[in-house]
Amino acid sequence: MKTWVFSTEADGGASSSALEALTKARSFGGDLVAIHVGAGSEPALNELGAHGAATVLHLSADVSAAAIAAAMAAACETEQPDLIIFGMGNLDRDVAGRLSARLGKPVLANAVDVTVDGDSVRVANEILGGTTKVVTQFTEGAPAITITRPKAFPAEPNGGDAPTVSTLHVPDVGHAGDVVVLSSHAESAEGPDLEAAAVVVSGGRGLGGAEKFEMIAELAGLVGGAVGATRAVVDAGWVPYSYQVGQTGKTVKPSVYLACGISGAMQHLVGMKDSTTIIAINKDPEAPIFGVADLGIVGDVHNVVPALIEALKAHGS
Ligand SMILES: Cc1cc2nc3c(=O)[nH]c(=O)nc-3n(C[C@H](O)[C@H](O)[C@H](O)COP(=O)(O)OP(=O)(O)OC[C@H]3O[C@@H](n4cnc5c(N)ncnc54)[C@H](O)[C@@H]3O)c2cc1C
Repeated sequence: MKTWVFSTEADGGASSSALEALTKARSFGGDLVAIHVGAGSEPALNELGAHGAATVLHLSADVSAAAIAAAMAAACETEQPDLIIFGMGNLDRDVAGRLSARLGKPVLANAVDVTVDGDSVRVANEILGGTTKVVTQFTEGAPAITITRPKAFPAEPNGGDAPTVSTLHVPDVGHAGDVVVLSSHAESAEGPDLEAAAVVVSGGRGLGGAEKFEMIAELAGLVGGAVGATRAVVDAGWVPYSYQVGQTGKTVKPSVYLACGISGAMQHLVGMKDSTTIIAINKDPEAPIFGVADLGIVGDVHNVVPALIEALKAHGS
């Protein structure tokens, strides 16, 4: 099995989706190659090697998605990869779609698992809010192209050596190659990184107003956690989009997820249901969030959350 993993440079390292996919792809055996777009800093390349990439095909950050796809398509002809794994990043998805069109091969997106059995590649997707798993097998021949969801696999280094790095040749794609990204910025957020935090305290519409997020932030601060939110409150302008957990927000897998005044709509659940322990506070005992909660507190958030804060302070947190 020859597997390619798409990687982009992020904060001086390789994208987390690439490290997750490399970790998974190690279990397939065979050649493991990272297609890395960006500065190609030593830490990023070493990280790719440490997660199993023996070879890195490098492209600089100023190459357009159209040109990256063309370069990968040309390399596919000579290198004949069996499987190409992308993450959910903007560039990942842009390139995956273009590569699919160039090669005439389908893309299976939103994968939560990828399995290889001999020459056959299958991906698993969760549908209907994660209540049903669908396994699909590629039948169009190599390469199978898939886009995997964040945190579908853990990222675990195996101590691999620094990879062999070569520059991927970029063919002329005419005006499609003229597109340049002028600037990009990361939305600022305070406190621990929501996607990496061991504890997430999230608020929903049941809080009743933007100012009530102060107590959510205080509770999160006491337990060293990050603040999350539902789309309903993001749409209401109570907190920025960077806080949103769910289908169209972030996917989190903390040890503890505390849902305060959140109904548990399917689109929210897909972003947090794999948390180790889910605690829900809701005044409606029939709220769907209790269907996934390990511990449920039927009560008013305006009473329960301040009581929790008091108790944590009393215990010196
Ligand atoms: C295409 C699409 C994508 C979406 N993507 C996302 C997404 O990424 N993330 C997301 O979260 N949603 C998403 N949604 C929206 C989703 O369907 C829900 O509308 C949203 O999650 C509801 O947010 P909520 O739980 O805060 O609000 P509500 O559904 O209004 O629930 C509020 C809850 O608070 C409880 N409550 C009220 N007062 C109190 C109180 N005083 N004390 C305790 N409990 C109280 C109520 O009983 C209720 O259960 C998406 C929807 C669509 C159509």
